[in-house]
Amino acid sequence: MKKKKYYISTAIAYTSGKPHIGNTYEIILADAIARYKRLEGYDVYFQTGTDEHGEKIQTKAKEQNKTPKEFVDEVAGEIKRIWDIMNISYDKFIRTTDKIHEQEVQKIFKKMFDKGDIYLGEYEGNYCVPCESFWTESQLIDGKCPDCGREVTLRKEEAYFFKLSKYQDKLEKLFSENADFLKPESRRNEMLNNFIKPGLEDLCVSRTSFDWGIKVPFNDKHVVYVWLDALTNYITFLGYDVDSPSKEFKKYWPADLHLIGKDIVRFHSIYWPAFLWSLDLELPHLIFGHPWLLSNNDKIGKSRGNAIYADDLVSKYGVDAVRYYVLSETPFANDGNITLELLEERYNSDLANILGNLVNRTLAMDKKYFDSNIENPNIYESVDDNLISYAKMLPSIVKTKMDSLKISEAIEDIFELLKRSNKYIDDTTPWVLAKDEAKTDRLKTVLYNLLESIRVSAVLLRPFIPETCDKIFRMLNTKNTGFDTLDFASLETGNKLNDAEILFQRIETK
Ligand SMILES: [Zn+2]
Repeated sequence: MKKKKYYISTAIAYTSGKPHIGNTYEIILADAIARYKRLEGYDVYFQTGTDEHGEKIQTKAKEQNKTPKEFVDEVAGEIKRIWDIMNISYDKFIRTTDKIHEQEVQKIFKKMFDKGDIYLGEYEGNYCVPCESFWTESQLIDGKCPDCGREVTLRKEEAYFFKLSKYQDKLEKLFSENADFLKPESRRNEMLNNFIKPGLEDLCVSRTSFDWGIKVPFNDKHVVYVWLDALTNYITFLGYDVDSPSKEFKKYWPADLHLIGKDIVRFHSIYWPAFLWSLDLELPHLIFGHPWLLSNNDKIGKSRGNAIYADDLVSKYGVDAVRYYVLSETPFANDGNITLELLEERYNSDLANILGNLVNRTLAMDKKYFDSNIENPNIYESVDDNLISYAKMLPSIVKTKMDSLKISEAIEDIFELLKRSNKYIDDTTPWVLAKDEAKTDRLKTVLYNLLESIRVSAVLLRPFIPETCDKIFRMLNTKNTGFDTLDFASLETGNKLNDAEILFQRIETK
């Protein structure tokens, strides 16, 4: 049977500087979803990369006496390095300074112009340099940029405009009729009521005040607006072409999920559909504006002096501890919070105590009582029900949560099985059974149930903490690691366990 395709993308990271842990959260989230979908049997295409044009980058490069290209090469390299440290399984890491992309953006611009969706006009407005956005008087908050709160400057320039107003009705219809296009619900309401319903103005899609961007093909005084450049990465790197789209494009487009931060929902849910309609292309199935990961409940930023970097965390705690923390800490709709104290607490309570301890205790008991043999004479007792029935239900519970992108809840549900396993040890008291020779077979089944619960948990936890789960599979000496082996009691008997290794060394805290 042909596999169903699943195209997932992250927003491309802006190459203005090294990404902190807050900016890294999104790629970890996307990776967890991509890995989960692959294990479910989908043919996954996972795209990420960097957004490298714009005035802010030109300014930053100048400050450092570098050309913009030198500057973005350095930062893009740093971003890719961090994605790789985080064990991100992307299929393609793209850069908007790639020639193929630049050429296609020019063709797209030309096609929209020829169609009458782009026209030449004049722009006068309040401009925010860091956000590269013009704002109308009514959009300003206390005279400042509504997105970042910085000062705006009055600017007037000749500019090309995209006829966003033409797509007003279509957008209103999209938002009213398709509840599944943009999640969470709160963002959908915000876009519809605050932006679409009050009336959309045509969008300025070129700039003349700087030149670090893709030139408008028939008027090289202008560079293409960064968002028109950036958004089209989702199609250009799949081989979209206005004349002859590639096989890959036809296979994977439309995207199944654009994963983005809540701060750029407007660009993805309003501008992007209009651009796609203008190109006569289908819309992505779902846009998810995820919450932020904050530090001490404050936005993370270098200028705020509270920046925490993923690579520093990984060298101290290990990649899976960082993945686990950010994924389990940031819920579906509310912001998450990270501090070193909180991370260490969760590391000790969840990873070292609940998971690591369970694995080590169970393997140690099996070694002591049965020389590490895996056996199951099927001597069940009613005390097993609570554990086994939950382990049997768990795959479908996790699937429901993953399908609705409730990642932190899925992880919590898997940890519930680990907690029940720890309790099962207390309830069955293997050390008491071990003293009674008549109970030898019962003890084997008790240990088997524990080993199997560990295996089921590891199969399901693998999208989130892949390295750790692979270590567990090695210790369990099992080949049954896929989603097709989730039926309880799939752990092979007759094998011997491999030596236990410490998964998460407890951190001594003050
Ligand atoms: Zn701003």
